[in-house]
Amino acid sequence: MIVCKFGGTSVQDAEAMTRLAQIIGARRKLQPVVVASAMGKTTNQLLEVAQTASRGKRQDALDLLAKIKEKHLRESQKLGIAVTEDWVFETIQTYFKEMRDLVKGLAALGELTPRIMDAIASYGERLSTAILTQVLENNGMPAQLMDARQCVITDDNFTRAAVLFDQTDPAILEHLRPVIKAGRIPVFQGFIGATRQAITTTIGRGGSDYTAAIVGAALDVEDIQIWTDVDGIMTTDPRMVPEARRIRVISFDEASELAYFGAKVLHPATIVPAVRRKIPVHVLNSYKPDQEGTLITDEAPPCDNPVKAIAYKSGITVVNVTSTRMLMAYGFLKRIFDTFEHFKVPVDVVSTSEVSVSLTVDETSALWDIVTELKKIGEVKVEGSKSIVCCVGDNLRNIPGVPYIAFSALQDIKIQMISQGASAINITFVIDQERLPEAVRGLHDAFFKTADPLIFE
Ligand code: ADP
Ligand code: ASP
Ligand code: MG
Repeated sequence: MIVCKFGGTSVQDAEAMTRLAQIIGARRKLQPVVVASAMGKTTNQLLEVAQTASRGKRQDALDLLAKIKEKHLRESQKLGIAVTEDWVFETIQTYFKEMRDLVKGLAALGELTPRIMDAIASYGERLSTAILTQVLENNGMPAQLMDARQCVITDDNFTRAAVLFDQTDPAILEHLRPVIKAGRIPVFQGFIGATRQAITTTIGRGGSDYTAAIVGAALDVEDIQIWTDVDGIMTTDPRMVPEARRIRVISFDEASELAYFGAKVLHPATIVPAVRRKIPVHVLNSYKPDQEGTLITDEAPPCDNPVKAIAYKSGITVVNVTSTRMLMAYGFLKRIFDTFEHFKVPVDVVSTSEVSVSLTVDETSALWDIVTELKKIGEVKVEGSKSIVCCVGDNLRNIPGVPYIAFSALQDIKIQMISQGASAINITFVIDQERLPEAVRGLHDAFFKTADPLIFE
C-alpha cells in the first residue's frame, strides 16, 4: 500500500485532476490511498467568505461563495461529470446550500469563532474529494469517497487541533481496510478531522501533508508520496532563488527542521508519524510525474556540502526580557517559558545572557497578554517585522567552518539573534525582514557554489 497526497495546485482544476488520475492509474498495483487538499486557493477563499460575513457584509460573502461554487461546477463539468443527476452535482449543491446558511447566520451574529472557521474551511476538502472520486471512477478506477471526520479524531483546539492517535489509528484501519480489500481506491480529505463529539476540526494550515502521514502510519504503508508543484525539496524556496536545486535524498531530521523553519513544501508535523513507522516519504512534482523527486529517509547518505538546504520564515516578532534582579538568580527562564506555555504560544528561537532573554514567536494573537505577564518579571521590548533564516544539514555536526561561510555571506546584514545547537543540524539567524531576499540568496550562493552530484540535481 502507498499513500498519495495531492496539494492544492495538484487538484486546482480539471487538467490537474486528470493528471492525478493518470498518476494513480500508473500506481494501481501498489494499492494507493488518495489524500487530497482543497482545490487551489479554496481554503483561503472560504475563510474570506466567513470573515466577510461576520463583518456584516452578507451580500459580498454570498457573492464570493457563488464564485467558488461556479469554479467547482465549471471544473466538474469539464471533467464530464454530469450537471443534472450526478451525485457529485447534488453534493456540490447541498454543500453550498449549507454554506449559504452558515454565511447568513454569521452575518446576523457578527462573530466568527474558530469552530465556525473550521466548519467552513472543511468544505474545501470535502468538495475536491467528492469530485476526485468521480474522476477516478470515470477513468476506470473503482474509488470510494471517505469521510476523514470519522477517522482523524482530534481535540477541540479548533483551527489547529491535535490528533488523538489512540482513537485515530484504529478508526483509520476500521474504515479504510475494507475499502482497500474490496479493491477500491479510498479518497480521503486532508486537513480535516473531528472531535469525539463529531464536531468538525482542522489540524492547521497546510495540514494535508500531515494527514497523509497519519493515514500512512496507521496503515503501515510502504511509501508516503507528497505530490506538489515543485520538483521535490529544493535547496531553498525556488520562488525566492530560481537556481535552487532539487535534493535527491534528505534525512527525516533535516526535513523536519526545514519544515519547521518555514519550507512550506512540507507541513512541519508530517515527519512525526512517518518516523514512528520508519516509512519513507517522497516529495514529487505532479506536473512531471516521471521525475524522481526527493526521498526523505531515516538516514541520508554522506554529502560533501556542509548545508543541505536553507529555509526561512517571515512575520516574526522578537521579544526581549531583561531583568538585572535576575542576575545570579534562578527561575528566570522558567517563569518566562511558563508564560508562553500558559498562552499556548510556541517559541522558535531563543538566546540568553545572564540578565536577558530574546525569543521569537510567529504568532501574535496573545502577544499583549504575554507582554503584560512578562512585565512582572522584567523590562520587555517587542520588535516585529523580523525573519528567521535557517541553514540545515546533518553535516553541521561534523564539518567545521559553517558559521564562517554563513557570516561571510551575511556580512552586510545586521544579525539580531543567532542560534546553533539544540538539534546540532541547524544554524539560525534572525534578521530584519526587508533584508531577507538578499540574505537567502547570499547564503544560497555561498553554500551551493558547487553541489555534490550524488545528493543534488
Ligand atoms: P501544496 O499545495 O502541494 O501543499 P505548497 O504550496 O504547500 O504546496 O508547498 C509547495 C511550495 O513550497 C512550493 O511552490 C515552494 O514555493 C514552497 N517551498 C518553500 N521552500 C521550499 C523548498 N525548500 N523546496 C521546495 N519548495 C519549497
Ligand atoms: N487546504 C488546506 C490549506 O490550504 C490544507 C492543505 O492544503 O494542506 O491550508
Ligand atoms: Mg502544502
